[in-house]
Amino acid sequence: MNEYALRVAEDLRRRYAHEPEYLQAVLAWLELIDPALGENPEYERLDLLARMVEPDRIVTFLVPWVDDQGRTHTNHGYRVQFSNALGPYKGGLRFQPGVNLSVVKFLGFEQTYKNALIGLPVGGAAGGADFDPRGRSRREVMRFCQSFMTGLYRYVGADTDVPAGDIGVGDREIGYLYGAYKRLTGRAERGALTGKGVTYGGSKVRQEAAGYGAVYFLCRMLERRGETLEGKRLVISGFGNTAWGVCRKAAQLGGKVVTLSGPDGYVYDPDGVCAQEKFDFMAEMRAGGEDRVEPYALRFGLEFFPGRKPWEVPGDIVMPCATQNEIAVEDAVRILVNRVGYYVEAANMPATPDALRLLRLSPDILVAGAKASGAGGVAVSALEMVQNSLRYSWPRKQVEERLRQIMADIHDVSAAAAEAYGLGYDLIAGNDIASFQKVSQAMMAQGL
Ligand code: GLU
Repeated sequence: MNEYALRVAEDLRRRYAHEPEYLQAVLAWLELIDPALGENPEYERLDLLARMVEPDRIVTFLVPWVDDQGRTHTNHGYRVQFSNALGPYKGGLRFQPGVNLSVVKFLGFEQTYKNALIGLPVGGAAGGADFDPRGRSRREVMRFCQSFMTGLYRYVGADTDVPAGDIGVGDREIGYLYGAYKRLTGRAERGALTGKGVTYGGSKVRQEAAGYGAVYFLCRMLERRGETLEGKRLVISGFGNTAWGVCRKAAQLGGKVVTLSGPDGYVYDPDGVCAQEKFDFMAEMRAGGEDRVEPYALRFGLEFFPGRKPWEVPGDIVMPCATQNEIAVEDAVRILVNRVGYYVEAANMPATPDALRLLRLSPDILVAGAKASGAGGVAVSALEMVQNSLRYSWPRKQVEERLRQIMADIHDVSAAAAEAYGLGYDLIAGNDIASFQKVSQAMMAQGL
């Protein structure tokens, strides 16, 4: 590895041993961009890597709120503004008990390099809170969102930082957050948040975008081999927004999603998650806020595997749509033993470093990383920002076609960058190299 990159990695290891997710994300990245570093002494002279692996700014704030019984709870809110080299800070908010600084830093880092190749000018950020939405009433969620925005609104704005959803933050939460933002600032500044409802400035296809985008990306990979999705079996994790979009788009294109999963286990659906009532039931489960997938098995009379992961199920395509580090080495081995042809990440950092290395270096499976195939959500968020600044709303078909084109472009740019460095069809390295080059050029052009 490049000497300068090694020093930066060493320094990170020393200072952030207590932030494992963040370390994991940046160390993997330093390794992958290595082929692109050798040629340019400017990177070291400008101390570019050290400036790229750390966020510009971190905001932390307390989020006190009162439950329906009148008891006060205190949660911890975060916003990590990672980089605005390419445009305003942009990225999701996650409400989940495990959220901490390490998690939001890893998400903000990944977001920066994910956003770099969508072709629209946005930087990278992430945020959230250690709030547990399970079992909370609508009114409790609303009060929580209002308190959260009270802590955050000063740092948000259409040209400053534009939050959106992530795990635990969907259209309902974005509605409450946006309502609070309007009251606090006195302005209906629609570009300040994305993922809004279509009646008040949201983009069509935003809800479906994360899942649709991943399937469009997969289609580009299939196309390259002269294949289509028709008749293919998809093994996926999760049952939330991303999984829901994947099921819908895959079904439209003749594919069959045969698993869904939650923290409680997985469901095997041999006929595929292909019918409208199944899509609707997924949306209901998610809105119910229980965070369990077993009700799907009970509702449709299917087999449920408590406490197990779906990766043991054979299929043509594996698509993780849930959360970080849910694929360990033994899962990657299972995926390879099952002779899966495609591994396409829709969630952020779903595999551990060793698991991903194993999949990436195996000649039998084609692999796409979250910063490429997982960019659909933010791509439509950026299209929402464009529509907000035009004070106009595009028809559904037009947004979908733009999303399809953006995903195909990310694929092609990543493949070309890998090719240029003699790495073959390595979409993960290619994507990291191309986005690194884009962000670093913008930083060099703008000075310190
Ligand atoms: N949380 C999403 C992601 O991981 C969306 C971010 C956005 O729309 O700004 O990309």
